[in-house]
Amino acid sequence: MQDCIFCKIVNRELPSDVVYENEDILVFKDIKPEAPVHLLLIPKKHIPSLLDLSEEDAGVIGQIQLAASRLAREMGLAERGFRLVNNCGRDSGQVVMHVHYHLLAGRPFKWPPG
Ligand code: IMP
Repeated sequence: MQDCIFCKIVNRELPSDVVYENEDILVFKDIKPEAPVHLLLIPKKHIPSLLDLSEEDAGVIGQIQLAASRLAREMGLAERGFRLVNNCGRDSGQVVMHVHYHLLAGRPFKWPPG
């Protein structure tokens, strides 16, 4: 999508600090980290929010969950744990309308979130 910043990151029209990539997904560091570890995991395909998922997107969403699990282990986060967050829609705080999951770690998190 032309005006989507995450599509521009996928297409290398904007810079990013890429941690992992395959044909379908991209993982990069959040530009404004809210924790010592703050990654964004996105499908390369433009999907505005979780509300826009279709059956054909099941595979890519599964890949994101698996990548989060594997990266958490590889980064030594398994013992202390981590949080995987999707914001969907205005009340949730979603700002970028391209599905993404935040992987946050390296400090304790409160529950429920604010
Ligand atoms: P949301 O509030 O769930 O939509 O989260 C959007 C996230 O994207 C925020 O944590 C931003 O800091 C992050 N972000 C926005 N622009 C960029 C960028 O160019 N590179 C990396 N992260 C970004």
